[in-house]
Amino acid sequence: NSNRQDRDKETNVQVLLRCRPLSDDEQRLNVPKVISCNEHKREVSVSQNLANKQVDRIFTFDKVFGPKAQQRSIYDQAIAPVVNEVLDGFNCTVFAYGQTGTGKTYTMEGGRRNKGGDLTAEAGVIPRAVRQIFDMLEAQNADYSVKVTFLELYNEEITDLLAPEDNSRSTEDRQKKPISLMEDGKGCVVLRGLEEEAVYSVNEIHSLLEQGAAKRRTADTLLNKHSSRSHSIFTITVHIKEAAVGDEELIKCGKLNLVDLAGSENISRSGAREGRAREAGEINKSLLTLGRVINALVEHSAHIPYRDSKLTRLLRDSLGGKTKTCIIATVSPSVHCLEETLSTLDYACRAK
Ligand code: ADP
Ligand code: MG
Repeated sequence: NSNRQDRDKETNVQVLLRCRPLSDDEQRLNVPKVISCNEHKREVSVSQNLANKQVDRIFTFDKVFGPKAQQRSIYDQAIAPVVNEVLDGFNCTVFAYGQTGTGKTYTMEGGRRNKGGDLTAEAGVIPRAVRQIFDMLEAQNADYSVKVTFLELYNEEITDLLAPEDNSRSTEDRQKKPISLMEDGKGCVVLRGLEEEAVYSVNEIHSLLEQGAAKRRTADTLLNKHSSRSHSIFTITVHIKEAAVGDEELIKCGKLNLVDLAGSENISRSGAREGRAREAGEINKSLLTLGRVINALVEHSAHIPYRDSKLTRLLRDSLGGKTKTCIIATVSPSVHCLEETLSTLDYACRAK
């Protein structure tokens, strides 16, 4: 099948760049902008003042979205095709990568939470993906099931964001329900102890998302900057009954992972003081390993270092092979973020 072969040769990693607008505060303070986006040429240029000389650096991506880009247009252009693959029975992953405050959570979850099933203009990738999945499944008139999990990875430890609250124990205990990561013999990732919620409508997902987000906020108040140091993974698994031949049923299964990564500033700054040492190291480990895995995939290397971090072990069955990966790198236009912006652009360019 020549289609199949074409597919094998294609690069299945897509890298997008999104630059957020200046915030109201930044505008009031007249913060200079150092980024300009050319969506048509798919280029971002960064102006730097080096030894009193203006130096422009240009980076090219698969797609570029400037400060005016709407949530909907990013979804329609970049994410909807990935979700189509999931419904065809493939595993896919979308990452948001960037410095804290550049719009990872805004891109993945969105601005104000949506009430009911209607999407607001600010709804992000997760609610839009869920909506597309249900719309397409309902149109197919087949038997299907949709399940979601929502977890957080912090210090290489997994926390279930959907686990029911147990008020009889202390807050600290509640945060630590151990979840173990294993592989079945067939190369699929198995997480023992993780709540898997069956969902029947878009509306249910909103409350699950809110439940998980609330848990992350609680953790934030317990430990400053918790959410900027942790990765969250929202996974939607779809089973579609294709046909029944005699006693045998054909089931198509696809999985979509939507990942809001830890702030990339954790990678570039050592910040390894005292108690922070382990934490900084562990965050580096997952983000750095992810970069290496993606490089290895893009370069078709024989060895892909999945085993080197928990994040890449978790996503092993959804990265590489016939899966599709989309990385949305987010940056701020502000001059104050210049160093971090350059390191994000470098990381994202290496992933292409
Ligand atoms: P991160 O998750 O990367 O730390 P956030 O998603 O929390 O960043 O974004 C930081 C702030 O900027 C939030 O108040 C968010 O609403 C706002 N913001 C981010 N991206 C955009 C955008 N494209 N348009 C409008 N506001 C945005
Ligand atoms: Mg965030």
